[in-house]
Amino acid sequence: MLVSDQINDKEVPRCALAVAAHPDDLEFSCAGTLARWARQGTKVVYLICTSGEAGFDRPDLSREERIAIREAEQRAAAEVLGVHEVVFLREPDGLLQPTLELRRKIVREIRRFQPEAVVCWDPSLLWINGSMVNHPDHRAAAQATVDAVFPSAGLLYLHEDFLAEGLKPWKPECLVIVSFDGGDTFMDIEKTIELKIAALKKHKSQIRDWDPEPFIRKTAERQGRVRGLRYAEAFKVIQLNKPLS
Ligand SMILES: [Zn+2]
Repeated sequence: MLVSDQINDKEVPRCALAVAAHPDDLEFSCAGTLARWARQGTKVVYLICTSGEAGFDRPDLSREERIAIREAEQRAAAEVLGVHEVVFLREPDGLLQPTLELRRKIVREIRRFQPEAVVCWDPSLLWINGSMVNHPDHRAAAQATVDAVFPSAGLLYLHEDFLAEGLKPWKPECLVIVSFDGGDTFMDIEKTIELKIAALKKHKSQIRDWDPEPFIRKTAERQGRVRGLRYAEAFKVIQLNKPLS
C-alpha cells in the first residue's frame, strides 16, 4: 500500500499534490506529513485555489497587495517544509464553488504533475470538533479535488484539448483526505512537527500575536494517541485503481 500508517514505512509517493482553498490550510492540517514525505524524496506540490485575500482585516491594502502578502507567506511556509512548487489558481476568496471550471483547473494540474497521491480536505466536513463551522471554500476546494481525481483526470475523452498540450490522462493511486475527527491512517510527525509549527508561523497576517505551537502540539498528541505515537496527523485514505474485491 502506497500510503499506510507510516510508522516504519519507507515507501512514499513519488509525487504528492496537496490541494487547498487558502494559504495556511495545509500548514494547519497536514504539513507534518508533507514535510516528512519531502524529506523522504517525494516531490510535494501545493495547489492553492484562492490567494486568501478576504481573510484579512487591512482596509488600507488593495486586493492585489493582500494577494501578494498571502502568496508570499504561503511560499515562505512551503519553503520551510521542503515543498517543491506552489501553484495559485487565484479564484476569488470567500466565493469558491465546486464548479466544472474549477474541477477542470485541478485536472490540468493533476495531469501536469502526475501525482501518485492527491491530498485534500474532506468535502463532507461541515463542523470541526463541535467548535467551528468548516469554511465553505474548504468544502468547495475538497469537492472539486475529489471530483477531479475521479474520474475526470483519468478519462481520455474528457478535456481532450489538454492532449494538445501534452497533458495525458492520469490516475492517481490514492486520495489522502485530511481528518479532524477520526480517520483510518495516522502519520507519525514527531520528526517534522517543528517544521509544521515554523511553517505556520510564516502566515503572519493570519496568526498575528497568536502562538500556534500549543494548539498544533495538542492536536498532534490527540491524533497520535490513537496509534501510540507522540505526534501524528490523521487521514482517510482512498486507494484508487484497485480491482473490486
Ligand atoms: Zn482556510
